[in-house]
Amino acid sequence: MTNQNTSRRNFIRNTSLGLSALALSPVFAKLAMAKPGKKLGIALVGLGYYSSGQLAPALQHTNNCYLAGIVTGTPSKAVDWAKKYNIPEKNIYNYQNFDEIAKNPDIDIVYVVLPVFMHKEYTIRAAKAGKHVICEKPMALNAKDCEEMIAACKKANRLLSIGYRLHFEPHTMELMRLGQKQVFGKVTTIDTGNGFTYNGDPNAWRLKKAMAGGGGLMDMGIYSIQGSRYTLGQEPIAVKASQEKTRPDFFKEVDETVYWELKFPGGQKVNGKSSYNHDWGYLKVQAEKGSFQLEPAYGYGGIDGLINGKPMTYPQIIQQAAQMDDFAACVARNVQSRVPGEEGLKDMRVVDAIYRSLDSGKWETVG
Ligand code: NAD
Repeated sequence: MTNQNTSRRNFIRNTSLGLSALALSPVFAKLAMAKPGKKLGIALVGLGYYSSGQLAPALQHTNNCYLAGIVTGTPSKAVDWAKKYNIPEKNIYNYQNFDEIAKNPDIDIVYVVLPVFMHKEYTIRAAKAGKHVICEKPMALNAKDCEEMIAACKKANRLLSIGYRLHFEPHTMELMRLGQKQVFGKVTTIDTGNGFTYNGDPNAWRLKKAMAGGGGLMDMGIYSIQGSRYTLGQEPIAVKASQEKTRPDFFKEVDETVYWELKFPGGQKVNGKSSYNHDWGYLKVQAEKGSFQLEPAYGYGGIDGLINGKPMTYPQIIQQAAQMDDFAACVARNVQSRVPGEEGLKDMRVVDAIYRSLDSGKWETVG
């Protein structure tokens, strides 16, 4: 009883609206009655690198949610995870019996951490099973699939969020404020790049167009695209892109390094790049009366920044814990996440336009 009261207090303290707003929310009222003082249960779907290295460890530090279940096609992983994270057998699913999760009251949120080509299917199946959904980036293979995912979640009256952890990261939030509020006047130039030198398994899904949708652009460029969008708080209207391939035998099906220029309504000069062949991770902003930048800008930790040449002094946080706690609070209050499906869709519209521009060699309209 004491534990329940303590965790309920933690839950309420960690939601930003407080008790009166919670009491008004029909969803929270339902949850509160069904599970008084209980953290919301998350099931991770796909127990690969990101789930095992980041999300499951982060879920040991969350206040509003916990690792309640898993979905895996590998029986030995089920055994290991059950032991390591104390997951009951009734909360362990595989890809065949996944839809039975609908009957499991322990699972409130399904977190899709699968290869990109599976995001749409599992997001829609989770929503149909009555679960709220977090889907990893990039949201889907293309913008049209993103639209279908958003529509399916709306139809099922479930919330959808994308795993955009940086929206909860203090240096990044400060950069957004400086850019969007025009603290140093209007932003004039943005220069951003994200990438790493891919030397992994040549047969991995990330190198297959049908499974990943693309290469460095889909995986890493999505951050640079988003960095430009959240610096300005605006949507780009057109893009012109070019690419470079130095290892065509390795990157047979997907892009290696892509460069692009984005046209925004305010006329800012915005250059971005992505790569599977360069170690990049920066976001540099010039405004009329000052400059600010993040480098590293997009990692899990070690985010660092300068404002007019002076270091930012924000703490490093467990980004994924903050992101998942916020979504659980959104579910409890029945309010849209700050990173809803629409945010993933907007990025994918830009990605689609970049691929069109690579084909045409011309400026392409976003949308
Ligand atoms: P991964 O390859 O390590 O894991 C994918 C998991 O999916 C594996 O456990 C694999 O067994 C499972 N799977 C199920 N069906 C599969 C199939 N048909 N083919 C291949 N794998 C199948 O990948 P990852 O690095 O964990 O990435 C998963 C998702 O998470 C991707 O969308 C990726 O972009 C995203 N991600 C996000 C971040 C972030 O910072 N937000 C970081 C890393 C990865």
